[in-house]
Amino acid sequence: MKIPPFTLERQYSEIGIDVENAVLNILQKGQYIGGHEIAKFEDSFASLIGVSDVISCNSGTDALVLALRALDIGHGDEVITTSFSFFATAEAISIVGANPVFVDINLSTFLLDINQIESRINSRTKAIIPVHLFGNAVDMTNLKLISKKYNLKIIEDCAQATCTLWDSQNVGSIGDIGCFSFFPTKNLGCAGDGGAVTTSNKSLAQKIRELAVHGSPKKYTHNYIGYNSRLDVIQAAILNVKIKSIKKWVKLRQKIADNYSKLINENPLLKLPQTNTELSHNTWNQFVIKVKNEKFSYKQNYLELFETDIIKNKTPRNFVKSELQKIGINSIIYYPIPIHAQLAYKEKIFEKDLLLNTEKLCTEVLSLPMFPEITFEEQVYISENLNLILEKYDQISQISA
Ligand SMILES: *Cc1c(COP(=O)(O)O)cnc(C)c1O
Repeated sequence: MKIPPFTLERQYSEIGIDVENAVLNILQKGQYIGGHEIAKFEDSFASLIGVSDVISCNSGTDALVLALRALDIGHGDEVITTSFSFFATAEAISIVGANPVFVDINLSTFLLDINQIESRINSRTKAIIPVHLFGNAVDMTNLKLISKKYNLKIIEDCAQATCTLWDSQNVGSIGDIGCFSFFPTKNLGCAGDGGAVTTSNKSLAQKIRELAVHGSPKKYTHNYIGYNSRLDVIQAAILNVKIKSIKKWVKLRQKIADNYSKLINENPLLKLPQTNTELSHNTWNQFVIKVKNEKFSYKQNYLELFETDIIKNKTPRNFVKSELQKIGINSIIYYPIPIHAQLAYKEKIFEKDLLLNTEKLCTEVLSLPMFPEITFEEQVYISENLNLILEKYDQISQISA
């Protein structure tokens, strides 16, 4: 059996005709920038998330940049976030001229460890960007307590978490601003790049709207140095079709995660992903298992670590990945290298000893195939083979010990 880590082909066979009709309609009408289709999507997305305003834009990365700019965050400012995320989270902070300050992650949830935030706050700290990574919600109740105490803004990175709830509220409606991506692999994806900013603060919404279109409140008037960051009308038309199915797709992801958790056997080498308290708190953009790396040494220099363990394929995780590959199951490593260890940040001095859990996790994570259309038969095939591979690894390591 051959199983991709992710595919859109099956979804297309379900909704393809509607997508084609929507796109043809736009092409025929010739309304290519702004207008009804965009307004319709922004309204639908606002009611889905439960905010007063949605500003669509070109990507999730742009959404983060627009949010930071709208809050006047720039040179000399610090923004607290996680180093275990897609690069764009920190990149957006650096793009506006501010500095990312990374707190370590919790090894069970993979989310930023809220208990470590307070010790990193100083007079330059302006905001916190919690990342609802893999669809799993950050504890927004406790995060808000901290942000209130220190008067910090919260920008939620919801790129992987469309429809994730925290205490019955959608992520993206809890902090000051929410940032979403419609990159094709996200819970709600379009057919290219796309993103949106969510807020219920009217003056922030107005400023974000202007920033996204050359800082312009009306044609040929410019209040700010802004961006050219619009959602394409063709993408909005596709999203207007796909948004009708998002709740169904999210339920399927939750069902698949539940099946995996039951079908995969306990094994000392393995840890299954953990949701932050309630089932609705996770929409499973990824199902990420941890294959323990006992040899990980907290004293290891991080660059050396990624040379020896990852590039040379010696971790138990890489063994499992290649064994799965041999029988047609394609898994992916999200993320192989933490953001603070990227060459792009080589000039920045991070307190690296503070991010040891993040560094360890990067040598252990493995994402199993996850998309709403994956069949039960495929879930069983993946789980049973993973069980066999882990048993086999146990025997091999006992022999060599
Ligand atoms: C995808 C992603 C982004 C960026 O979104 P784009 O639409 O690709 O620009 C930001 N943060 C996280 C956590 C992401 O997964």
